[in-house]
Amino acid sequence: MIKFEFILKPITPFTLTLSDVFKESYISSIKGMFRTASIFGLRTLFGEGYSCEDMYNKTCPELTEEERKGLRVFPCPICRTYGMMGLKGCSFFIENFSEVISAKKNFNYRFLFRGPYNKILVSEKPIKVLAVCNYTCSHLIILLGLYYVNLGIIRLGRFKSRGLGIFRVEIEDKELQKLLEDINTLREKLRECLEVT
Ligand SMILES: [Zn+2]
Repeated sequence: MIKFEFILKPITPFTLTLSDVFKESYISSIKGMFRTASIFGLRTLFGEGYSCEDMYNKTCPELTEEERKGLRVFPCPICRTYGMMGLKGCSFFIENFSEVISAKKNFNYRFLFRGPYNKILVSEKPIKVLAVCNYTCSHLIILLGLYYVNLGIIRLGRFKSRGLGIFRVEIEDKELQKLLEDINTLREKLRECLEVT
């Protein structure tokens, strides 16, 4: 079991939707951001064959025999890390959940700086995340996603982010923090890990 802790420090406020007030959906929107970022990273660094969603727009249990052969790792590292039907991925916990939620405030937003202002619900609190994983490559898969989150390429809220939801990532573990800043070494470590699993 691997425990992996990191902090998302907001560069811009990030949006909270009403449903985010419920803990489970809030965590799942954060998890969704990591998942999107990891798929993007695998695709960018290794090409096709590491994500069922990227290749077939399905999850691993839904694939036919023929489709499975198209994946270089089955179940794919994304399903192993983020879970799928019948396979529990990493568990994600937001350690300061009530702090993040209680800091919510209204933010005036104008589409393309024109038109009327809309009030949207945002927070600016750093988010402390704990991931607990069983699959041996999961922390590297998450770290790869965090690399793209840290660059601002992947944001919280996706199409609803309204240009907000940009984070810097900080990891207490010095080794992992170094990996986050060195994509070549991270890629090599991930390649080695994926080869033996
Ligand atoms: Zn999959």
